Amino acid sequence: MRSFAVSRTVAASLCLAASLPLPAASAGAQSIDAVAARISAQSLRGHLSFLASDLLEGRGTPSRGQDLAAEYIAAQFRRAGLEPAGDDGYFQTSERQYAERDMTRFSFTVQAGGRAVPIPAGAVDLRLRDALALQDVPVVSMLWAEAMADAARADGKLLVLAMPADRRAAYADLGKFKGKPALLVLVDAGKQSGSGVNGWLVEEDGATPAGGMQRMLTVYGADAAAALGAPGASASVTVPAPGTRTVRLRNVAGVLRGSDPVLKNTYVMLTAHYDHLGIRNGDIYNGANDDGSGTVSVIEIAAALAADSKRPRRSMVFMTFFGEELGLVGSRHYGKHPLFPFKDTVADINLEQIGRTDDNEGTRLRTANLTGFDYSTVPAALQRAGKRFGVTLWKHKENSDRYFAHSDNQSLADAGVPAHTLSVAYAFPDYHGKDDDWQKVDYDNMARIDRTVAAGLLRIANDRTAPKWTDAPNAAKYREAAKKLKVEK
Ligand SMILES: [Zn+2]
Repeated sequence: MRSFAVSRTVAASLCLAASLPLPAASAGAQSIDAVAARISAQSLRGHLSFLASDLLEGRGTPSRGQDLAAEYIAAQFRRAGLEPAGDDGYFQTSERQYAERDMTRFSFTVQAGGRAVPIPAGAVDLRLRDALALQDVPVVSMLWAEAMADAARADGKLLVLAMPADRRAAYADLGKFKGKPALLVLVDAGKQSGSGVNGWLVEEDGATPAGGMQRMLTVYGADAAAALGAPGASASVTVPAPGTRTVRLRNVAGVLRGSDPVLKNTYVMLTAHYDHLGIRNGDIYNGANDDGSGTVSVIEIAAALAADSKRPRRSMVFMTFFGEELGLVGSRHYGKHPLFPFKDTVADINLEQIGRTDDNEGTRLRTANLTGFDYSTVPAALQRAGKRFGVTLWKHKENSDRYFAHSDNQSLADAGVPAHTLSVAYAFPDYHGKDDDWQKVDYDNMARIDRTVAAGLLRIANDRTAPKWTDAPNAAKYREAAKKLKVEK
């Protein structure tokens, strides 16, 4: 398909005589239109109504619902005729330890003014990994700034701090906190209950997650806040040790081999994460937009491209990741164990939240954002593809840079592969809420976005020149990583 330039010239000259019937389009253009025609809103709705159904219980990592989702995605790849690319058919498996606590053995009692106030397990989020047993420890309430300046005053005691409005800044502060309290308790009086999550994936190297401060928990509710704030209060806390079990987590991967004898050994990736938040406090978080929308788009685009009798020059890899919501775990696993060499991987387009158009900042129809918009030449390829389908790719002023490291493109970018996340809406009303349901997705708009993505992938897959990082200052470290890959070559 050498015809991109040619077809554009033909089209331009035709504008002068628009009433003439169009001659047969060039092979390349024909192929893009045929692929686009196979992407349908109805098909996307069908896939998403299953993946975001209550049966799949929010696709938490790990869960039976997530395993069902993985099987469904693999079945769709199989149906499309993709070649399996994992270590177990379409699955790239990662065996991990999952730690979980029996919270029926948790207790937290505050003694104040001759009264014992119990704080229930549901009103607490634990941020400590080990067991803990404190008996009648004095409680010290401090202001945030006070605690940062005079940390030692609470050493050996239970230090109570009110949760500041800016949580992010607060957690950053805590990273520098030098005190040695028996337990640090953050109090959030505005909320009534915690996340209900009491399990976590153990890091592969056995390390505890970053954050420095290990003995910490958050307590919710006005009653707990009042008890902990009472003068002369003391507290007893029992946190049981976690038990661990082995879990088998799975990325799902399929490949469509390219047609060029040399370029078929190079790869363009299309990715999305298929996990979501699971069940929390009895509510199912279906994650239809986050990121069921990206997942069904990978399925739909893969099927549309695989059904074409013509193959692009480069190979295409379609992949959905587990564990994004736990901190990009599935894509980081891929970063450590790539199925195709990074030096031969020319680009990744990662899809996130492309179904909802009701962005908090206003309606987003026929538009999509890309993170790291100025970082590589990939966005330009998508922009050109978008023109064909009336879709504008644009740079969100703050979020384009800010969110670059917040999704699964990051592991690939770190390895040097030009990789971006494409989204329609960043913040939307049900973001990480229990009502992110499949009925709220704009399927016609999503189909249009998917046609653009498919055309963009084809462009990259047929272009003999691979995308590259630009000289944008924020892309410097990825450019360096790419240089190292070239040396490998
Ligand atoms: Zn997401």
